[in-house]
Amino acid sequence: MTPPVVVDGERLLWRLDELARLTATPGEGVTREAWSRVDVEARDRVAGWMRDAGLHPIVDPAANLIGRSPGVVGRWFASGSHLDTVVHGGHLDGAYGVVAALEAASALHDAGHTMDHGLLVAAFANEEGARGTAGMTGSYACVGGVSDAALDEVDDEGVTVRDRIAGAGGDPGRIAEARWDPADIDAFVELHIEQGPVLADAEVGIGVVTGITGRQALDLRIAGAANHAGTTPMRLRRDALAAAAEIVLAVEAMPADGAVRVATCGFVDAVPNVRNVVPGLVHLGVEVRDESAAALDAAVARLDALLTEVAARRGVGIDRTWGQRVPPRDVAPAVADGVRRAAAVRGLAHLDLPSGAGHDAQVLADALPMGMIFVPSTSGVSHAPGEHTEPADLVSGAQVLVDTLLDLDARLGRAGLGVAS
Ligand SMILES: [Zn+2]
Repeated sequence: MTPPVVVDGERLLWRLDELARLTATPGEGVTREAWSRVDVEARDRVAGWMRDAGLHPIVDPAANLIGRSPGVVGRWFASGSHLDTVVHGGHLDGAYGVVAALEAASALHDAGHTMDHGLLVAAFANEEGARGTAGMTGSYACVGGVSDAALDEVDDEGVTVRDRIAGAGGDPGRIAEARWDPADIDAFVELHIEQGPVLADAEVGIGVVTGITGRQALDLRIAGAANHAGTTPMRLRRDALAAAAEIVLAVEAMPADGAVRVATCGFVDAVPNVRNVVPGLVHLGVEVRDESAAALDAAVARLDALLTEVAARRGVGIDRTWGQRVPPRDVAPAVADGVRRAAAVRGLAHLDLPSGAGHDAQVLADALPMGMIFVPSTSGVSHAPGEHTEPADLVSGAQVLVDTLLDLDARLGRAGLGVAS
């Protein structure tokens, strides 16, 4: 009987603190933008801890840090997340998933436990989309999804993604070599803070993610007629902002009847934006999110009808540009079941929930069976300095992660899960 594999909570929390100290904005949350000096420093710290855990770390051509257990001839489990943060973000978004995957490796190493599967721990580069870039660069590279056009994208500072990757120790000319062979990897499991209030509200420590939300963006250009606010009679106005206001409220109302999970108008720009002029032009940014592709399709049709009706009734022109569509992703049921069993064995309450935010795991879902575990975010705060999770929940999450891997390893042996649909 091998000794039980138990995570070292103090080590986990200490490593998180160490990474939090590597920030470009001390005292104002954590700023560790992708490919920056502090991001590379954090990656180097984690590489050292990987060696301590018996893993062999490399920086791949996409500037991902990948640590693999040595001497593996069979199949693999992969786990990890990202080390980069938004500007003035928190210390847990991403870093927790990396440090917890590392803790799984450390705990297995300390216990002298060898799984049938090798363990690959990943710290993906540029999940957040530093300096206006598209984001998820590192995980896309692992599924062969970084095009030349993506490498040529220029960030807010006029630097290409290609040069950023090269500057952070990657090799963009060989980025195709960063691709993982899906035939080798049975599951990717990402542990992450929820970044929402559901688990904290329910006072439940473990979230079993059932799917990752999809998103449809829509940009509107509402053209009315600018005119004198004192002399233009109400019945003759074509007020673009009043039309936009109707649209904003109609969008807000969409989730109430179950059409989509959330719907938001987060951007508005009125022209000329002067108190005594009837607004002539409004730009409005809309997005809807749902875990069902059919719901997103239905929302698109409904928005289309709404815009046509408002435009006709108010005599305004509405140009619509359907923007980025991120498809929803299913979690592999076998992985979710493994998480539920792992939580139950430790006596931890768990709750099924969708992920409302995007994650590296959804990119990998194109190629691999994928699952995610959430821990509570206090008050649902994330991407802000106040991001917090109770230490006991952080430790429990890491334990459930390693237990899930052990559960799947015991069930699968050398047989694969198959790719989730
Ligand atoms: Zn994240």
